[in-house]
Amino acid sequence: MNEHYDKGSNGSSSSAAMNSSSSISSNNDGKIFCVIGDPIEHSLSPAMHNAVFSSLGLGYRYIAIKVKEHELSSTVEMLRSKALGFNVTIPHKIRIMDMLDRLDPLCRRVNAVNTVKVDGSMLKGYNTDVYGFIQPLRRRGVELSGKGAMIIGAGGAARAVLVALIDEHVGEVIIASRRVDDGKVRALSSMAVSAGIECRVVQLEHAKMYSNRCNLIVNATPLGMHGYHGYEDVSILDSSDIDSRSIVYDLVYRPMETRLIRNAIKANAMVIHGYEMLVEQGAKALDIWLGIDAPRDVMSSAVLSMLKVAG
Ligand code: NAP
Repeated sequence: MNEHYDKGSNGSSSSAAMNSSSSISSNNDGKIFCVIGDPIEHSLSPAMHNAVFSSLGLGYRYIAIKVKEHELSSTVEMLRSKALGFNVTIPHKIRIMDMLDRLDPLCRRVNAVNTVKVDGSMLKGYNTDVYGFIQPLRRRGVELSGKGAMIIGAGGAARAVLVALIDEHVGEVIIASRRVDDGKVRALSSMAVSAGIECRVVQLEHAKMYSNRCNLIVNATPLGMHGYHGYEDVSILDSSDIDSRSIVYDLVYRPMETRLIRNAIKANAMVIHGYEMLVEQGAKALDIWLGIDAPRDVMSSAVLSMLKVAG
């Protein structure tokens, strides 16, 4: 067995990544779980999934594999025989759709796959980000029907958020983006309008003119993310732009307490941290792969301890 990954004290693997050229084998009939992407070094998924396997006494292991764009197709073919399932992250979530045998209908709506189940020799694609996003709101008993929501950003995560909000029957969506004429923004706006939802697109710097009236505010940009140089400790909303009755949900999970989350707490608003979505999308993937109701507390502890170490 090629141990190209670190072992934590509890036997779970850390986020250290293998290269796609490394040979993969394991003690489970050669079958592994993994996440593929580039960059992948800082992925929290190995720690999160291995903590579940360890706590449930399952003999599986989950690793991170760095896969460059030109390696995607050969890696997917290799995983067809070597994996039981895998996650897909930046930059492969869209392109992988053409390489799979079947797609869950949600993948077409979101235009992205983040989870693949290997079923015999068949590769089936799923999107668990929509579930992952909505679950923390459902757990809090939040009712969004007819309510107003603001989505900051218009990339892949924003699209998953919009699909979830459409399914929750929100009444109005405000999309705040730095490029209002962008094709991605237009696509989001027409998706909302086709679903019968009132939609307004605003410049990012005008978000604060509308934020006060939104029941839910979601940051789906990397603004505030650790390692995003020049934008690490920024928020486009100050505490005075946030109503205490609003819910502020930052998809950024590193750091856990972003500037936006800190501003929302100062405004006495309800906050939802990005790691909660990470845990829920991972739990849904485990359900798809193994049919298990994964222990969220174990997953959250693994993620939070990794975030604490990383700062
Ligand atoms: P993406 O597809 O690259 O989209 C990023 C969006 O943010 C785009 O609309 C982009 O605008 C905008 N943006 C980037 N830098 C900006 C800046 N400096 N100022 C203003 N807008 C900026 O990325 P994504 O996959 O949607 O991910 C977005 C964030 O969500 C990331 O931080 C990611 O880590 C996080 N995320 C978290 C989870 C979770 O489980 N918690 C899941 C998915 C994503 P342009 O189109 O103009 O470039």
